[in-house]
Amino acid sequence: MSRQNQDYYSQALQIAQQGLTLAEQIKFTKGEAALHRTVGSAYYFLNDNEKAIEHYEEALKICKILQDFNSMALNYYNLNLVYRRQSKFYYSINNLQRALSLWEQLGNTSRMILVYRDIVQEYQTVGELQFAENYAKRALGLSLEIGSRKDEASLYEILASINKDIGNKEAVHEYFHKSLQIYEELGDQLLIARTMHNLAANVYEDNSAMAMDLYRKSAAIYEKLPMSNYSLSIVYNNLANIFKRNHQIDSASFYKEKSLKKAILSENAQTMAEAYNLTGRYYMDEGKLNRAEKDFRHAYDIAQQNGLTTILSEVLSGLSSLYYKKEYYKAAFDYLQKYKDVSDSLISEENRGIVHQLTMQHEFEKDEREMREAMKVKLEQQQQAVKYQQTVIVIVLFALVLTAILLVFLIRSNRHKKEANRELNRYKDTLEDMVEMKTCELTIAKEKAEEASRLKSAFLANMSHEIRTPLNGIIGFLRFIDSDDLTPSRRKEYIKVINNSSEQLTKIIDDIMDISKIEAQQMTVSPVPVQINMLMKELRVLFETYLQAANKEHIELVLDDSGFIEQDLIYVDTVRLRQVFNNLIMNAIKFTEKGYIRFGYELVGNNMLEFFIEDTGIGIPEDQLEFIFQRFNQVDLGNNRFYGGLGLGLSISRSLTQMMGGDIYVKSTEGAGSTFSFTIACNPC
Ligand code: ADP
Repeated sequence: MSRQNQDYYSQALQIAQQGLTLAEQIKFTKGEAALHRTVGSAYYFLNDNEKAIEHYEEALKICKILQDFNSMALNYYNLNLVYRRQSKFYYSINNLQRALSLWEQLGNTSRMILVYRDIVQEYQTVGELQFAENYAKRALGLSLEIGSRKDEASLYEILASINKDIGNKEAVHEYFHKSLQIYEELGDQLLIARTMHNLAANVYEDNSAMAMDLYRKSAAIYEKLPMSNYSLSIVYNNLANIFKRNHQIDSASFYKEKSLKKAILSENAQTMAEAYNLTGRYYMDEGKLNRAEKDFRHAYDIAQQNGLTTILSEVLSGLSSLYYKKEYYKAAFDYLQKYKDVSDSLISEENRGIVHQLTMQHEFEKDEREMREAMKVKLEQQQQAVKYQQTVIVIVLFALVLTAILLVFLIRSNRHKKEANRELNRYKDTLEDMVEMKTCELTIAKEKAEEASRLKSAFLANMSHEIRTPLNGIIGFLRFIDSDDLTPSRRKEYIKVINNSSEQLTKIIDDIMDISKIEAQQMTVSPVPVQINMLMKELRVLFETYLQAANKEHIELVLDDSGFIEQDLIYVDTVRLRQVFNNLIMNAIKFTEKGYIRFGYELVGNNMLEFFIEDTGIGIPEDQLEFIFQRFNQVDLGNNRFYGGLGLGLSISRSLTQMMGGDIYVKSTEGAGSTFSFTIACNPC
């Protein structure tokens, strides 16, 4: 190791140790574990294997407590490196298998491939080639699974080298070509160089020209790459061997020297020791014994200083042979003895390793079981925690959804409620309107009914009075007529009274009969041809007599013929027309005390005759104008009693005019007089 590197690692060790003390003080356990590993690694690089193991083991203990499986695996892996350097292969494999088992459980495939490759290398080293091949194939399977081309290629390389050891040349070629192909695809110069180098080593025995070509190509690439001294040292050594085999000693020596130079430049103790050992052997074979001795001594010193037992044993064997050649038998024997001791220790080391390995295997399986249990428990705890979380999430989600639904429901029901309220209010308003209307209608109906009842009572009272008056007149005067001492003039007068009373009674009975017929819809009109002007004149003569009978001759009766038509022969029901006129003129006479009564007719439109009866009587209050056409209605009950009547005349007249295709109206000014007009359809003959 260079001075510079040593300083660097020493410094790193110091810092890591300070960190470790601090972590221990503050009881930062995870940090402690990590720093133990770092300190271990610093010792590893400083070649203090024991200290490195100590710290890695310490880190492992803490990681086990913390159940930090990945860190555990890393520590097992680092321990493997230390044991490998010490050539304690079974320890190394044991630790690799522990790391593998952990990374397998953690599903870390790339780490698994790395470990597989190391295991393969270890098995290869101890000659367990079948195991080595199996592990290599498993690693290849994994790298194909994750699609790692680089791993795939390097595993082909490893498989090639195993098959080389097995002696399967075809397989070696196939695997090397496969890996070379991939590296060329990837354009990785270093790996191309290495594979060429390896392939050359493989074809070297059968095809030295091809091997030389490959070595040269490989060396050319390595020369361009940094940190390639170690590789170049090997390539040049191999080239030297080919030249030596071909008895090209100059070239062989040239490459041997080149190889040694590169090994020295690599500053790697093992490389240097191996290189010196190889040149030593080379020069010993060539008979250059002094040079060989010098190189062996270099190799010896480096191997011993760095605890490189395997090389040391080779160097010792070399030195023994050298001194034998030099005929220094004592020295040759001593070195042979030393060689025997070292190689014995190597073998016993391996044997101890095997025993230890078996013990450890047992412990390892135990540990693994415990670890699996622990992982299972942890996994279950995690699963339970996840389940719990999921349940909480589901509950929260459910609650949220429920709240949302409730909110929506509330908003909707509120809206519905509002709508329902609005609707209800509308119904209420409508209902109130309807009730109001109905109440109004009912009030009107009630009022009407009350009015009808009141009118009927009044009518009955009136009728009984109206009937009784003429009846009394008839009965009373009939009794007087029966008396013998009556003068003829008085008898005549009495008979007149009886006649008048009979007429009144007839009129009342006629009115009642008519109204009954109208109500029963049995009243009909029967138009007959009549000269209307003539009829009007007849009526005038008739009404004159009425005026006289009512002792109202002072009232002027005027027949207004200004509107008379010339073609006055028309179809009309004269009986009903007379009846209407009768009612209206009789009312005019009844309610007029002075002035005149004027009547006549005129043509309105094409075929309507409008008759009128105008008087200068008491008139009718405006609010009573429509009211008087209703059955039994009279303007004022009190007053009318004075005028007499049943309140049927106008009602009958309206029905009759309507039956004759017209109607009846009134205009009146209270105290000034009234004008009743009625129309009838005029159908000329
Ligand atoms: P009545 O038999 O009581 O006269 P009518 O139906 O003929 O019945 O008339 C109804 C009422 O109309 C009368 O009672 C009276 O109050 C009023 N009336 C009718 N004609 C006249 C008129 N020419 N002048 C004033 N009031 C009238």
